Amino acid sequence: MIIDCHGHYTTAPRALHDWRARQVAAIGQPGQAPSPAALRISDDEIRESLEDNQLRVMRERGHDLTVFSPQASFMAHHIGDFQVSATWAALCNELVHRVSRLYPRQFIPAAMLPQSPGVDPATCIPELERCVREYGAVAVNLNPDPSGGHWTSPPLTDRHWYPLYEKLVEFDIPAMIHVSTSCNACFHTTGAHYLNADTTAFMQCLSADLFHDFPSLRFVIPHGGGAVPYHWGRFRGLAQELRKPPLEEHLLRNVFFDTCVYHQPGIDLLTRVIPVGNILFASEMFGAVRGIDPYTSHPFDDTRRYLEAASPLSAADRQQIFEGNARRVYPRLDAMLRAQGR
Ligand SMILES: [Zn+2]
Repeated sequence: MIIDCHGHYTTAPRALHDWRARQVAAIGQPGQAPSPAALRISDDEIRESLEDNQLRVMRERGHDLTVFSPQASFMAHHIGDFQVSATWAALCNELVHRVSRLYPRQFIPAAMLPQSPGVDPATCIPELERCVREYGAVAVNLNPDPSGGHWTSPPLTDRHWYPLYEKLVEFDIPAMIHVSTSCNACFHTTGAHYLNADTTAFMQCLSADLFHDFPSLRFVIPHGGGAVPYHWGRFRGLAQELRKPPLEEHLLRNVFFDTCVYHQPGIDLLTRVIPVGNILFASEMFGAVRGIDPYTSHPFDDTRRYLEAASPLSAADRQQIFEGNARRVYPRLDAMLRAQGR
């Protein structure tokens, strides 16, 4: 079985974008904001948005299941206040829940949190609880920088975030550390801000002892871990300088990397440097890079192809990356699959 742990609803019907535009336009004008009920999207529109997009490509590439969350760049936690984020997150999560009801074997939800800059992350807990209990969410996307590129929140290892971690541990669900749109002109959203954040999150964890306080907390660092695998020697050396245990012991019981790396040499490096047990298959289809690689004539984001060609991976290694690790890191996903007889 092939489980893609990183997909977003980037093809949501136009009505969602229009509703959001009205919501943003009404910020600061009480009474002008559209009501959640004003968003009307039919089941047929949801099917149309997926059948010739994600579902077609999943069938072509042989992906069985995608852990599916709202569009990451669209979370835009920096826009408006907590109430704006709360209403927006609730709508986006409900829509992904509907996707998972229409296609229970192909999509399983991961929740977006109603984060807002300067607001206590504990305010996200009611939405998180709703998504897990009512929608069957198996993970959350946690934005380490709700300010959108200005990094005004404390590091992920600060007690600021602990109420949220307590809830993640209680539910036994991982957090994918995933930023949203950059509103800092220095950082392109998907080309710089995403990869910076992946690298930053890892270094924050390295320089502190978060997993001493939360031994069962799990973070998935997307986009192949940003610069981390490429600079593994630097991070190992920094851990040594900081008198931390070796990274295998210090972080790799809790931190996992996905395979959203869009060329063969990158995947070869990832799978040589990072232990197989810490790599989760993902494509982020459709995400930042949707084109065809002229060198290979295949889509850049067809990451299954790179993994099939990566050596020296054994068949057992590939099975772990495609399926086994996801079942272990996302126990609620495993339970859902077992309930489906898979
Ligand atoms: Zn993503």
